[in-house]
Amino acid sequence: MERKNVWASYTEKDNTKLESVASSYRAFLDLGKTERECAEQIVLEAEKKGYESLEEVIASGRTLKAGDKVYAVCMKKTVVLFNIGENDITKGMNILCAHIDSPRLDVKQNPLYEDTDLAYLDTHYYGGVKKYHWVALPLAIHGVVAMKDGSVVNVCIGEDESDPVLYITDLLIHLSQKQLQKKGAEVVEGENLDILVGSRPLKQEKDDEEKTKKEKKAVAANVLRILKEKYGMEEEDFLSAELEIVPAGRARECGLDRSMIAAYGQDDRVCAYTSLLAMLEEETPKRTACCLLVDKEEIGSVGATGMQSRFFENSVAELLGAMGYTSDLALRRTLKNCCMLSSDVSAGFDPAYADVFEKKNAAYLGRGIVLNKFTGARGKSGSNDANAEYVAKVRRIFDDNKVAFQTAELGRVDAGGGGTIAYIAALYGMEVIDSGVAVLSMHAPWEVTSKADVYEAYKAYRAFLQYDPA
Ligand SMILES: [Zn+2]
Repeated sequence: MERKNVWASYTEKDNTKLESVASSYRAFLDLGKTERECAEQIVLEAEKKGYESLEEVIASGRTLKAGDKVYAVCMKKTVVLFNIGENDITKGMNILCAHIDSPRLDVKQNPLYEDTDLAYLDTHYYGGVKKYHWVALPLAIHGVVAMKDGSVVNVCIGEDESDPVLYITDLLIHLSQKQLQKKGAEVVEGENLDILVGSRPLKQEKDDEEKTKKEKKAVAANVLRILKEKYGMEEEDFLSAELEIVPAGRARECGLDRSMIAAYGQDDRVCAYTSLLAMLEEETPKRTACCLLVDKEEIGSVGATGMQSRFFENSVAELLGAMGYTSDLALRRTLKNCCMLSSDVSAGFDPAYADVFEKKNAAYLGRGIVLNKFTGARGKSGSNDANAEYVAKVRRIFDDNKVAFQTAELGRVDAGGGGTIAYIAALYGMEVIDSGVAVLSMHAPWEVTSKADVYEAYKAYRAFLQYDPA
């Protein structure tokens, strides 16, 4: 039952394609460090491949048919693509699903303060983070500021070589005796994850000096002056901003042999990008192909842009409507008859922490895409447990198409656990299995994947979209 390392099996052709997938993946990571940036890129790439806005198609009154490609977007954060196939759509679609949000620090709504001539932005972390990871490294700020007049300003600071970076301080080792006795979860506390943004006071006239002292301190006032100049924003505009603090810098090749990728946000953009790539390469499939890339997975798939919302169901209803199906039954049947690969990253086996894994059922770097029959915690709590018959189908698709795959669960029984979005899609009665790419240091500011697994995931998604049970 042991799965082989896949590198040895690669031909020159494989290696060329693998490198091309890895490099376009890195470019995607560099341009998409937030869910909004990812959604924007996804739409751009889709439009290049002939996808049209479903909303616009509906407005034009056109009827959709096999061969048509459309997309829908929810609040600029979640995207669904459809490539209409030749078969009767009520017999189901093949769906690739993944999430495009990643753990990060969000700037609070009232964030700016000054203490002893240093100005800070206060943050609240998003998703599961080890707080001590986020100190003493270069950070960037990405996001939007929505103004009262309806305009939205994009913010991105810290990625260009000429940009400044932001920073969260850590206590010097010389004075850390007490800090280092604390538990890992408390070594750095959430409320101390404040971004250092300035130390130069605003130069001012004598008359203004007293006024500034009373209202806002001079270093913070200078930060506000810069924000006003660069983005036209006032302090009040933080109230309607979504500013995300992420590690600064580009995705890199990793290892002396360049076999891996080290980058921020690979959970779950590694599955999102490879799903997208497979989707966009699909011409006219037999079964309608769908690629669903969602937000808010890291905080429980909540909200309008999370998987628990009706966005996906409504989009399928709109698609069917535009194809001439208007009954609710057609929608129910379509959803029930779908097959989905719900992709999210898997915990890669790490020899340094071997004791939290069970070796026979762990995911290994370089052994292909991972299938997780179930996830969850303790007694599989919160898991979608894929049906055995469906697992067999997926095995056959992968084997027939020479896709390297392995099976795994998230660590040893009772070592912890985690969930994905599979169980939500399964509520429609469709076949769903968790799958994805193994990652080292999952949820750390820089995560590591194997290029071979990225390539196998892409191959797996290509093969899956061509699956036709008829
Ligand atoms: Zn994830």
